[in-house]
Amino acid sequence: MDSAHVQDDLVEVLFTEKQIQDRLQEMADQIAADYEGRDLLLVGILRGAVMVMADLARALPRHCEMDWIAISSYGSGTKSSGVVRLLKDLDTDITNRHVLVVDEIIDTGLTLSWLVNSLGGRNAASVEIATLLRKPEALTMPVEPRYVGWDIPNEFVVGYGLDYRERYRNLRDIGTLAPHVYS
Ligand code: 5GP
Ligand code: MG
Ligand code: MG
Repeated sequence: MDSAHVQDDLVEVLFTEKQIQDRLQEMADQIAADYEGRDLLLVGILRGAVMVMADLARALPRHCEMDWIAISSYGSGTKSSGVVRLLKDLDTDITNRHVLVVDEIIDTGLTLSWLVNSLGGRNAASVEIATLLRKPEALTMPVEPRYVGWDIPNEFVVGYGLDYRERYRNLRDIGTLAPHVYS
């Protein structure tokens, strides 16, 4: 059973709110330099990337647009279902646009390789990926994010948008769950 206070279920904090904000600022500065003189459309992947999108976009010292796409490759637990479904498409026509896909974590890479493939057919000027976390050992698909916050070991993490059964997204830190949560 989970505890009444969301923070109590974390067994280990991997990244604090402060560390996350600092790293996002570094990424935003790099993005601003790389995209200088070009328009920028951030595409966030619902629902996990909500926090990253909000904070990365506000760390950007320049104009950008934001749109959202909802795709699902995960079941309700800690293992990928292996099937990608488009739940909500973009509202924006990305023809000739510089698209930066914003995600919170790359695990197997299935979701993003499917998405980049799908966006690739829409005549965007460019499509790149920014992700806060990546699990290199779990990668099974060829996904090459241009911006990565941190590489992490192959374990299930929650917080800062990342859920376990739709909970823990509202944690400010990122960490691993105590075993009692799973039983
Ligand atoms: P992928 O397609 O790369 O395997 O992962 C797709 C999605 O699975 C991620 O965007 C994320 O929503 C979810 N996911 C992957 N690894 C984790 C994890 O360690 N914790 C949580 N909460 N979700 C994860
Ligand atoms: Mg996600
Ligand atoms: Mg999830």
